[in-house]
Amino acid sequence: MSDRSTTICPYPASGRSSLGVRKRVLVTGGAGFMGSHLCERLIAEGDEVLCVDNFFTSGRQNIEHLIGQKRFELMRHDVTFPLYVEVDEIYNLACPASPIHYQHDPVQTTKTSVHGAINLLGLAKRLRCPIMQASTSEVYGDPRIHPQPESYWGNVNPIGPRSCYDEGKRCAETLFFDYRRQHGMPVKVARIFNTYGPRMHPNDGRVVSNFIVQALRGEAITIYGDGSQTRSFCFVDDMIDGFRRLMATPDDFTGPVNIGNPREFTIRQLADLVIEMVGSTSSLVHKPLPENDPLQRQPDITLARDALGWQPTTALEEGLKRTIAYFDRLLSSVP
Ligand code: NAD
Ligand code: UDP
Repeated sequence: MSDRSTTICPYPASGRSSLGVRKRVLVTGGAGFMGSHLCERLIAEGDEVLCVDNFFTSGRQNIEHLIGQKRFELMRHDVTFPLYVEVDEIYNLACPASPIHYQHDPVQTTKTSVHGAINLLGLAKRLRCPIMQASTSEVYGDPRIHPQPESYWGNVNPIGPRSCYDEGKRCAETLFFDYRRQHGMPVKVARIFNTYGPRMHPNDGRVVSNFIVQALRGEAITIYGDGSQTRSFCFVDDMIDGFRRLMATPDDFTGPVNIGNPREFTIRQLADLVIEMVGSTSSLVHKPLPENDPLQRQPDITLARDALGWQPTTALEEGLKRTIAYFDRLLSSVP
């Protein structure tokens, strides 16, 4: 049995599977960039994984190496519909994450966050199990407070082109905390800041994948606006470590907790670094800044440090090296 506290949660802790051997963990969005790394980590740590995905922004290639392993199961399913499975822990990552992906079908994006949260919280309630939500720094919108602590309520446009994602994620957070207040459930909310690494989709339009692919192909690097906007980039292995530590906290720790790398870069600095590391001859080309593009973003990770004992350990240069190697292999394998 798990030692999760029963003082706040009115339910008995489920902890381990009924066989009492190992945990069975549900990862929604498990075939995606971060989901595939999480599945891999869980299996390496001895858990069983049920990976649920509708393959909207991913394919089997991210989890191909796991298919066929005894402790890995794959289910094609859309989280906007109810899911009836038996598990001991849930990580809810299902949602398109890059602006071009989430703006492709904005209504479906909101549904995925909101209906998805309702369905998975309902599942967690029946199973009496902990559930972690992959929330986002986008809940802070274009922030007026810098760096962003969890106490900041944000500056979000409710009707713009990014709103389907930002407001969907905000509403999902609301649902998590209402399920907590109403049903005493052990919920955990991670506010994820820009994360990068191997298995990002080469055409997802995100800045790290775009710049690396453009540099490797010798194409012009597309800087939106003047490139002075900032982001803080976290390598995926560090992020997964943060998820695991968050899930391992006692039931009375819910977050929200920022998980991200506080080292802040301008987009122009990132472009220069990628060009230098790839050894590329790419030039820079400026394109218009997308509407409502946040001008600055940097996590305050005091809470993650204190409550999770977590901080990122991978420098941008090291993470980029591994990501460049991944895209280099990927592009050379495409005829
Ligand atoms: P991703 O697009 O690679 O992965 C998302 C996965 O969810 C994909 O496999 C996709 O097919 C699946 N999916 C989408 N809609 C679904 C649905 N209705 N039902 C089932 N599966 C569905 O993106 P990612 O970068 O791995 O992001 C994972 C999670 O982390 C997302 O919830 C995202 O919002 C969140 N997040 C990511 C970042 C980042 O920088 N990568 C930052 C903040 C938050
Ligand atoms: N960006 C850019 N060129 C690109 C892709 C993105 O200059 O080819 C900028 C984008 O305008 C934003 C930042 O990089 O300011 C991060 O964009 P991304 O889509 O990766 O993430 P998000 O805006 O969701 O943080």
